[in-house]
Amino acid sequence: MRIIVILASAALLLLGAGSGEWKAEAQTPADSARVAPDSALSAAPENANAPYRYRYRLRTVVLDAGHGGKDRGCAGASAREADVALSLILALGKQIEENLPDVKVIYTRKTNVFVELDERAAIANRNHADLFISIHCNAGPSQSHGTEVWTMGLHKTDANLGVAQRENSVILQEKDYKTRYDGFDPRSPQSHILFSLFQSAYITNSLRFAQRVDRQLRTSVSRPSRGVKQAGFLVLWKSTMPSVLIESGFLTNPAEERYLNDKANQSYMAAGIYRAFREYKRELEGG
Ligand SMILES: [Zn+2]
Repeated sequence: MRIIVILASAALLLLGAGSGEWKAEAQTPADSARVAPDSALSAAPENANAPYRYRYRLRTVVLDAGHGGKDRGCAGASAREADVALSLILALGKQIEENLPDVKVIYTRKTNVFVELDERAAIANRNHADLFISIHCNAGPSQSHGTEVWTMGLHKTDANLGVAQRENSVILQEKDYKTRYDGFDPRSPQSHILFSLFQSAYITNSLRFAQRVDRQLRTSVSRPSRGVKQAGFLVLWKSTMPSVLIESGFLTNPAEERYLNDKANQSYMAAGIYRAFREYKRELEGG
């Protein structure tokens, strides 16, 4: 058993080491390839003020508006998930661009177009992003309301699995989805269990950011929270950096639909996520 644990830890370190999650600010050319995995994060704040040669910088964030084009996502009486998610993402991107000019903001889509789930993660990987933020809207019984912030992981309840299954069912609209997603079946609980351990090299930071988003939305934006949760989301599957998926609220709840479909409220929500992003960035960079 001990050997298995050691092997698993080594595998995680290897995964992290190739990832670029912990990008070092190099002092010498030889240092430029030095990276550290998620497991080194607890040392970050101390290192920042110590005479330490590497200094983490969060340089690139990828913003992902869920759905789009032929995939309109879930819907309320009038609002569509693809449109609300895009408005929230554009508002968030604008705030990051205006207030944190040292951060490069990349969008998986800026208009109403269809983008495959695996391509969204690929965009983040190609650009060596430090963080991936996907925004969606939820669907459920009309009384259900509140925000959820998700990271990749094994679902603890059928309800959590249900949210991932609904979001993952988008791939049924993609060509060759069985090949593209290694035989993954969005309707099968077994498929979700098998791939839920991906992203584990980045789970510390994914949770760190997720908790900040949840707290900001609860406190400064006063949105009801359903908490930070884990399940297997295909859009987070192959990203090689901390990644979260934000369910911004239920379009199937009339009051929440009205709230989410309002431009001013979209900008409040975006401001909450922006503040969480700023806190997360500052903390990892050592204040
Ligand atoms: Zn969605």
